[in-house]
Parts: sequence; structure tokens; C-alpha cells
Amino acid sequence: MRISTLSIGSELICGEVIDTNAGHIAELLLGCGLRVQRHVVVGDCEPDIGEALNELALKSDAVIVTGGLGPTVDDVTALAAAHATGRRLVVNEELNEHLRSFSARLGGPGGCHPSDKQAMIPAKSTVIPNPTGTACGFHFIHGGCFFFFLPGVPSEMDRMLRETVLPFLYVRVFHKRVVLSSFLNVFGLSEPEVDGLLACVLSGSHTVQMSICVTFPRIRITLRADADTETAARTRLQETVELVRERLGDAIFSEGHETIEQAVAGLFARRGLTMALAESCTGGLIAKRLTDVPGSSAFFLEGAVTYSNAAKMRLLGVPQDILEARGAVSSECAAAMAAGARVAAGSDLGLAVTGIAGPDGGTDDKPVGTVFISLAAPDGAWTKRFLFGGNREDIRTLTAWTALDWLRRYLMNNSLFSV
Ligand code: ATP
Ligand code: MG
Repeated sequence: MRISTLSIGSELICGEVIDTNAGHIAELLLGCGLRVQRHVVVGDCEPDIGEALNELALKSDAVIVTGGLGPTVDDVTALAAAHATGRRLVVNEELNEHLRSFSARLGGPGGCHPSDKQAMIPAKSTVIPNPTGTACGFHFIHGGCFFFFLPGVPSEMDRMLRETVLPFLYVRVFHKRVVLSSFLNVFGLSEPEVDGLLACVLSGSHTVQMSICVTFPRIRITLRADADTETAARTRLQETVELVRERLGDAIFSEGHETIEQAVAGLFARRGLTMALAESCTGGLIAKRLTDVPGSSAFFLEGAVTYSNAAKMRLLGVPQDILEARGAVSSECAAAMAAGARVAAGSDLGLAVTGIAGPDGGTDDKPVGTVFISLAAPDGAWTKRFLFGGNREDIRTLTAWTALDWLRRYLMNNSLFSV
């Protein structure tokens, strides 16, 4: 079944409101083995809505429309749908009754004018009930295409979609398919690197669809398998997941919606180790991310935001001569911070970051984006210089992600890299 979605709202095309309905509908449909093939967004403009409806009718078996069913003058979806399909707008008794009882429930007068805008829908339409709002939806068939009109409010739309639209579509799909998805999250490789490593996986499979999406600073790989049965879909998906895992190895930090800090917390729990943190340029960002995970007190003992040289000396015992000879942004200082944090907390691991996030403070030999990360562990210590690009926020984000990734890699392999 070819399905299209149409979001209506001037606030959507000018960027004032993010069109979350489209993604939500596509996700719910996928759960029923139905894929959205096309999505269109138009403003609250009658001719544009009419044109979109007619174009989509030619290319789709079903069109799900959201938005513009409210009582205000800018809500013109019902009128546009009527004009586009050569119908009249008529007062619907069921809608009248719904509006009356809704208004009474809210303590209103319990009546409405017979020409109330929201009681009028295109002739020969079926009402789609809205249990939680005033704007009911409607459904009709035009040019062999099923049309569904739902309000824009995400929670109302969601319920009406689940309760009415999805069951309607599901029984009309003769050749049912099962679509299963897997998500793999990658950090530390660039998009072209991931693309190059996965080229053979992509070309070999016609039954599993793969997409690579950069959501800074990680890359998300989505795999989707389509089959007649759940077992067949699961087998195909699993085979491809294994292939991707083989190709990308440790660069995959998690599956599904697991964050990198959750992955790190899981590894700490498995290893039964503890850590302490010394942060300079990230100003507590890493501590925040780690302590976002419930139960992190089991492994996260303490974190210090040591911005000044005095704090680095007093709280972490960084020697004054290192700060004077090498500077606060140096390999020696990072190593002393990590070791100092570990000793101060009595933890298994000590992690430290120090760098220049900008926009000022860069020099020729230490430009903005220069960051040193250091990890002190019972079996070794690792320190590395990085040069991150982007603005202040990007540099801080990349520093936090890289530091978290170091923890993850150390906890997995008991090592980071040979020095
Ligand atoms: P009503 O006016 O009765 O609330 P409606 O069908 O007219 O219903 P809209 O006026 O288009 O709905 O939108 C209502 C609210 O729902 C908007 O303010 C917007 O925040 C939200 N909304 C509308 N469309 C979308 C969308 N595609 N994605 C996310 N939110 C949306
Ligand atoms: Mg609107």
C-alpha cells in the first residue's frame, strides 16, 4: 500500500513548530508493516492544500493529513478538502453532538450554532471521533485513494490514528509484511569512513534497507528488514546487524536508543569499578552526562571542575612547575589531573580533560580546539592531544563524547591504545 502524509500549518513551514507528526505517523505505521513513501508540508493556504491533496491522490493508496481542523479562520483544511474533491461542506449531526457535549463537559453553555465551523465537513465523509478534543477528523475515498484528516495537536492525532486509522488500513492490506528495525550508534568514525566500511554490506542486501544519519557528534545506522513473516524479517535483520558489527567493531557504542553514558554506566556495573573526574574546559558537562544515568552513584565517586591553576593544584595536586613550564593545557597537566583525581577519590579510574574551547585563548602552538584527555587506571595511564573543530559548544561536546568513549573502550578492553 502506497501511503503519503501531509502536514498542514503555516507555523510548520516557517519553522516555528517542528513537524513531529510526520515522524510519529511513519513510526507507528512501520510497526504495522506499512511504510510512508512520501511526505508533504504546506501552509494554511487553501489552494496549496488542494493542490497537495490532488497530487498525492495520484501517487498514493492512502493519504493521512494532519492540522488545520480547528475553529479559527486560518484553519481551512476541511474547506480545501471539499473544494479539491468537488464536494460541498455540510453540517454533520454527529459532529454537532460532539461539540455540544464537549462544550458542556468543559462547563460551557452546552450548545453550538448549527453553522459552527468545526461541525462542517465535506459531504459523504465519515467522522473520525476525537475523544480528547473538539476537532474531530473525517475520512472519505476520492479517486480510489483513502483520505484521513486528523487535527494537528500531536496527542489528539496520536489517539485517533491508533484507534481509527491504523485498524482501518490494517484490515485492508492484503499482502501483509512485517517490518523490523535495528539502530546501531557509532562514535569516532566519520560519515565517509562508515560509508566506505559498509559499502559491501549495502550492495549485498536487497531485503534490508540501511540508512546512515549523522546526528552530531554520533552516527546512527538504521537497518530495516521487510518480510512475510516475523521470523524471516528477524533472521534477515540479525544477519545484517552481524555484518555491520563485524565491519565497524568497537566504533559501535550502543544499539537502539541507549546513550553513550548509559553504555558506560552498564560497563562500570559489569566491571564493578569506580571513577573520579577532573574537568577543565567542559565545566562539569561530563559529570552531568554520567550522573544523568540513574544508579550512577555506584561507580561515579566525585568530579571536580578545576578551572583555575590554583584549583588544579589544591584539589588535584598538579605540580606548580608543570603549570608554569607546560601550561594548564598540556599533556603533562592532563596526566597529573587524572592521576590526582584518582588519588583524591581513591577510585579505580581517574579521567581528566583540559583544553581551549574558544573563541579566545588560542595560540599558534595551541589553537582553539586543542584538548588533552587523560585516563589513569591501575594498569596504565593514557594521554592524548586532540584538535577539535567547530564553535565553543561543539568543542565541549566533542571533548565530553571522546572522554566518555575512552571510558567505554577502556572498560571493554582494559586498554586504550599503545603509547
Ligand atoms: P485545533 O485548532 O482544534 O487545536 P487543528 O487541527 O486546527 O486543531 P492546528 O491548529 O493545525 O490543529 O495545530 C494545533 C497545534 O498542534 C499547533 O499549535 C501545533 O503546536 C501543533 N501541531 C500542528 N501540526 C503539527 C505537526 N505536524 N507536528 C507537531 N505539532 C503540530
Ligand atoms: Mg493550524
